[in-house]
Amino acid sequence: MNPPAIAIDGPAASGKSTVAKLIAKELGYTFINTGAMYRAVTWYTLKQGVNPADTAAVVALLPGIPLAFGKDGAVSTVMCEGRVLTDELTETATNENVSAIAAIPEVRALLVEKQREYNLAEPVVMEGRDIGTVVFPNTPFKYFVTASEEVRAARRAAQGLTDSIAERDRKDSARACAPLTQAEDAQLVDTSDLSIEQVVAHIVADIRSRI
Ligand code: C5P
Repeated sequence: MNPPAIAIDGPAASGKSTVAKLIAKELGYTFINTGAMYRAVTWYTLKQGVNPADTAAVVALLPGIPLAFGKDGAVSTVMCEGRVLTDELTETATNENVSAIAAIPEVRALLVEKQREYNLAEPVVMEGRDIGTVVFPNTPFKYFVTASEEVRAARRAAQGLTDSIAERDRKDSARACAPLTQAEDAQLVDTSDLSIEQVVAHIVADIRSRI
């Protein structure tokens, strides 16, 4: 049996990243940001001059893709040719194309395998869109973190990022393969009117009561 896996899913800018990071810290688990993995594949595709809409060309890139999914301490990282990717992952071009890349089943199969590897030897808090539905469907710890569209747009704007959240959510929810959706057995956590601390305390207490 694998160590515990905590699945935190939800739409863009719902606060799930911040919350997941703090839960991981509190529990002493490794934090895995799966959005960064899809973003890295997107960034690399664009860097190679490949059109993200050209599915066959993107799939052809995958076997030789020079990305390494690792950790720095208790936080996941993505490296490309020995360099940790940071700002590249939130560039406007990456934001605009990540949903197209994430809709490609072969991309998802590759990344889901890497995501599961993180949990082979240690407990994880993993955030994304399909963690509770696809990556760890059997985990008893699933949370769907959301907030109103206004709150989410304000949060992303406060970070100074150009990102059409509503458009990404629409594409992520509409795709055929592993769409953004709340797992039937996930707890819904609406963060619109709650502080980060309240959300973290609620989820950590729930996990501790059942682990
Ligand atoms: O979480 P973040 O906003 O960084 O994710 C960027 C994009 O990566 C999402 O809009 C979605 O298209 C894709 N993604 C996904 N499945 C995940 C995590 C992210 O499809 N588990």
